[in-house]
Amino acid sequence: MQDYSFDLTGRTALVTGSSRGLGYAIARALGHAGASLVINGTNTARIEESADSLRADGLSVRTAAFDVTNEKSVVEAFTTLDAEGLKVDILVNNAGIQLRKPMIDLSLEEWRSVIDTNLTSAFIVGREAARRMIPRGRGKIINIGSLMSGLARPTIAPYTAAKGGIKMLTQAMTAEWAAHGIQANAIGPGYMLTDMNQALTSDPQFDAWVKARTPSRRWGKPEELVGTAIFLASSASDYVNGQIIYVDGGMSAVI
Ligand code: NDP
Repeated sequence: MQDYSFDLTGRTALVTGSSRGLGYAIARALGHAGASLVINGTNTARIEESADSLRADGLSVRTAAFDVTNEKSVVEAFTTLDAEGLKVDILVNNAGIQLRKPMIDLSLEEWRSVIDTNLTSAFIVGREAARRMIPRGRGKIINIGSLMSGLARPTIAPYTAAKGGIKMLTQAMTAEWAAHGIQANAIGPGYMLTDMNQALTSDPQFDAWVKARTPSRRWGKPEELVGTAIFLASSASDYVNGQIIYVDGGMSAVI
């Protein structure tokens, strides 16, 4: 009988941008659910530090430092994993950056940098993963969207465009790859306590706005995302395709 459990034993998970923040929390949880991990980021020292702390937790970890926006580096990283016999069963496209600036002051270079890191990367890394998952007839792709996959706020135009794009890229992946046994889904985190939001959490006005605007009246903790990630990475979600699941304390549900 097919196994529809949350157990990830025997699977390999590549989580981009997992040297810290949400990616680290997701990787750690997938590891504790049984997966072998491939940890990524651009800062080699930070990746090694994170890998050591995951290993100290008893997890199986390999590091792969590459820039998710650089097609050549991504292809090389997958080729190296192939040569080592490592098959990526679960891909979490999580790496991302934020840039806060009014749109009228934004340069094209800044626009491209945010779009490349938050959206184009998911295409590049997703395509390399899918090229290997399709012949195996199975795979899980989890794209990290945002509240901004469906809502907008001032000063973060390229981020909003990229995260909206992540929602539709997830549907496009589903249209082309679901028939090959790949489930592509997205997670839309709300306001979470990570480095990316340090400037916001230490701004009393913004902090108060988040708490007032979120029905659960608080910021989210990275650990609160991981149950959804394990679900979407496991056989428990084998008939869930092309969805975005918001983990946001209810913010996307109310105005
Ligand atoms: P952090 O800034 O804490 O961490 C970002 C991670 O991405 C780091 O590991 C960083 O590693 C990596 N990274 C950045 N650029 C690249 C790149 N070009 N190539 C490879 N790795 C890269 O961010 P969060 O954990 O807060 O965010 C993670 C994801 O969740 C992002 O996609 C973000 O948009 C999304 N999200 C976050 C929310 C939040 O409230 N925090 C809310 C909604 C969505 P290094 O520094 O080594 O490059």
